[in-house]
Formats: sequence, structure tokens, C-alpha cells
Amino acid sequence: MKIVSGMRPTGKLHLGHYLGVIKNWLKLQEENECYFFIADWHALTNKYKDTKELKENIKQMIIDWLACGINPEKATLFIQSGVKQHAELSLLFSMITPKSWLELNPSYKDLKFNLMYQYLKDFLLGKQIKINQAPPSESYDEALKKATGKQKNKIFEEYLREAFHRTFYSKKGLDLDYLKEVLIKFGIQKKIIEEAISNLKDGDIGKDIDTVGFLSYPVLQAADILIYKAQGVPVGEDQLPHIELTREIARRFNNLYKEIFPEPEAILTEEAKLLGIDGRKMSKSYNNAIYLSDSEKEVNQKVLQMKTDPQRIKKTDPGNPEVCIVYDYHKIFTNDENLLKEIDTKCKNAEIGCVECKKILANNLNQFLTPIREKRKEIEKDFPKYEKIFIEGSLKCREIAEETMKEVREAMNLYY
Ligand code: SF4
Repeated sequence: MKIVSGMRPTGKLHLGHYLGVIKNWLKLQEENECYFFIADWHALTNKYKDTKELKENIKQMIIDWLACGINPEKATLFIQSGVKQHAELSLLFSMITPKSWLELNPSYKDLKFNLMYQYLKDFLLGKQIKINQAPPSESYDEALKKATGKQKNKIFEEYLREAFHRTFYSKKGLDLDYLKEVLIKFGIQKKIIEEAISNLKDGDIGKDIDTVGFLSYPVLQAADILIYKAQGVPVGEDQLPHIELTREIARRFNNLYKEIFPEPEAILTEEAKLLGIDGRKMSKSYNNAIYLSDSEKEVNQKVLQMKTDPQRIKKTDPGNPEVCIVYDYHKIFTNDENLLKEIDTKCKNAEIGCVECKKILANNLNQFLTPIREKRKEIEKDFPKYEKIFIEGSLKCREIAEETMKEVREAMNLYY
């Protein structure tokens, strides 16, 4: 099967990327004709202002992929901006794609939600607001009373997210007046609230995501896939609407001009269930990720900081591994069923301390990461040799993409 898949170069890869994408690619490359690309144009959709790190991010991605075992003898590896035909096809597709298909795309809304909520949260917490007064609900009041320091911020974040969610997905869209009321109940200064809300409305954050590029990135994605006439695209559940859109665009093109594009199937990949060390989604922006490039010392430190069963305060308290992030990691990185069972039993009977349990995990994680680290060093030392793989891959893809474009231009009766 011909498979196309890409990743946005947003920084070094972490364990979440490895489990969610790379592990799957390693399997796919064994039995399929795979095209894996670094989607640098896609990285611009919401990060167009500051591109200083883009080249370095691409370099790190090349190193990470190869260090993990993505094999250029088995898959074609390339960089999106090295194949300009993607942009040409995207432009032609944008002519035949109704605007409503994009505006109604759920992942467009979700991405917008995340960016706006993230901005508001970071802005408010960055102002060092005090979260300990005028709680807006009783259950919140209870939780807040028990919380200390950082926990208060976490509770605030959760409540804010809920309040944001309440109107964001409604027909009328985000209700800023309601949001203002909620923030006032928290006792946040009016001046700070006004500033945050006005930035949300028409300040930088609004502009960052209200671009044509951001709205139409699924069209570019369709071009990325269809230009190689791919039959399969590995995706997580949240990406399914994008693949459906790709199929619709292919169908529309085929009906309007000529049967050129196959409708690719989504190859559903299981979501990586691994959370960050603080219990939130693993993400660079939360500063809670373990990177493939982390040193042994960094891994040890991060594992020691990991959240555990919140009910287990003292070593003598019995724990519950099912609600503990450390145990979630053990399930993936401790490849010894007996040891897993032992930790489970000892935790439940308060026979093992969390520090000891974390040390076992850190050790196993380091065992997993050591070969990747070593390979990374080797690639870094001689980077141009490895970069060439992607340059040659891009040249190869240009030829394939150009063949498709010849058919497309002819079908559409373009002059050139
Ligand atoms: S002993 Fe291990 S599994 Fe149990 S709560 Fe502590 S860290 Fe989690």
C-alpha cells in the first residue's frame, strides 16, 4: 500500500511523538511504500511570525527520525517545502473546495479552541493573579480550600477551560461577556481581564489563527497526500475529519475534470495514552515532556518529579497504580510482566515507596533511550551526510509529484 504521512517540525520529539507516530511508522515502513515528510509549511499555519527556530527544528527532526530507526532504504524521506508541486496542487484544490467544508471542520475548531484557551490561561497566570477568592461554585470552593500553591493554579485552569468550552462550541460561538463574569468571580483585577479579553477579540491571538493559511491547511494536507496518489494515511481519531475532507476533495476533482486521484483510506492508529510528567497532555508548551534527546540525568530528574497517586501521601499509605502516571509509564517501558505485577502488588500493600518505584522506571526508560541517544550523537557528528537523505528524497518526490501535476494541469486545461 502507498502511504503518506508527515509531521510538523515544532521541536525535538518526545516520548508522546514516539509512541503516537514513530512507533507506527517503524511498522508501516516494513511492508508498505511509505513517504514520510517534514511538514515545514504546515508549521507556519500558526507560527508564521517567529520562524527563527524552524531550520533547527527540521534538523532535530531529521536526527530524531533516523535515530529511532526510520529507514531511508525502506521509506522515502523528504521535506515538504522541497517539493513545490504540493503548493501548486493545494492552490488548485482551493479553487474547488467550498469554504464551508473548512469552517465546519471539527479539527479547525479544536485547534482554534486550544490556541485561544492556551493564550488566555498563559496570559492570566503570567500576571501572577491570586487564585483563592470568590470561587464560582461550591465544588470548586471545596477543592480550592484543600489546594495549595500550584494546585490552585491547576484547579483554576480546569475551571477556566470548562467555562471557555461552555460557549465556544455553541452556535453563537465564544461568549466573551460570560467569560468576563467568570473571571470577575475569581477576583481577578478588571484591568487584567479587559486586556486579556480585548487581545482575544482582536489582538495578536485573533490574528494568529485567523489567517487563510490556518483555515485552509486541510487543503494543503489533501495536496500532500493526493499528489502521491496515496492509498493510506495513518491518523489518530481526531484527524479523521481531515482524511474525510481529502477524500471529498479527491471525489470533487475526479467528478469535475478527470479520474486522477484515488480516495485514500485512514489507517487508524491507537492514540498514545502517555501523559506528561505533571499529568496533563504531553506537550512542549506545558514543559512536561520527556524528550528522546534527554540525557540520563534529565530523565532521572523528570521521573522523580512525576505525579503519582494523589491519595498516597506517605509511604505507609496503600497506593493505586491505576491512577498513577508512573505506573502508566511502567506498562510501556518495563518489559517484564513479573516485575510489573510485583510493583502493582507492592504499591497496593504499601510495600514499595514511590521514589524506589520511580528509580526502577527511570532505569528502564534510560535503557530504552540509550540506543536512540547514541545514534543521535553519531548523526549529529556527521549531519550533512544524513541531511542528504532528505535532500535526495525531496528530489525523488519532485519527480513523482510532477508526473501527477502534468495530469492535473492537462485535466484542468491550464496553459502551462
Ligand atoms: S509506588 Fe509506584 S505505582 Fe504506586 S503510587 Fe508510587 S509511583 Fe505510583
